Amino acid sequence: MEQTLVILKPSAIQRALAGKVIDRFQQKGLRIAGLKMIQMTEELCREHYSHLVDRPFFYQILASMTACPVVVMVLEGTDAINVVRLMTGSTNGREAAPGTIRGDFSMSNQENIVHASSSPEDAEVEIKRFFKPEEIFTYKLNNLSFIYNPDMG
Ligand code: ADP
Repeated sequence: MEQTLVILKPSAIQRALAGKVIDRFQQKGLRIAGLKMIQMTEELCREHYSHLVDRPFFYQILASMTACPVVVMVLEGTDAINVVRLMTGSTNGREAAPGTIRGDFSMSNQENIVHASSSPEDAEVEIKRFFKPEEIFTYKLNNLSFIYNPDMG
């Protein structure tokens, strides 16, 4: 099973969408392995978005991501990284497919509700960035056979 990191951005918190977004992930069959609220700092943003620090819109990322606390989550499931990216949709909410989180809830490139790890390498680094080992829980979903059988993987 894979684990992936999701951030419910300030746009999700301020627009009272956190519950709806978490609901989607749970309804899909992903297991919540970790969940907490944190305040993003400039330092954390620079680390997390290091691939974008030189872009002209980085100051927008900083302002937007530190505007209020965010909720960070570790989600687990077979192919969880790809599944969550598919559920998240394209970066720009105006172009994201209807049915995706961004497609349904966002009209913006920046205020696009969620972050989701984009590769197994990123997921590993990002989970460690936001969670201590003891904040990630191992427990069994009792309905697992109804989520996956026979393709548990
Ligand atoms: P994604 O979040 O879909 O993986 P990126 O890693 O390319 O996309 O970008 C990270 C975040 O930076 C985006 O989710 C968005 O909040 C912000 N961002 C990306 N491109 C732009 C842009 N052109 N203008 C404003 N914000 C942007």
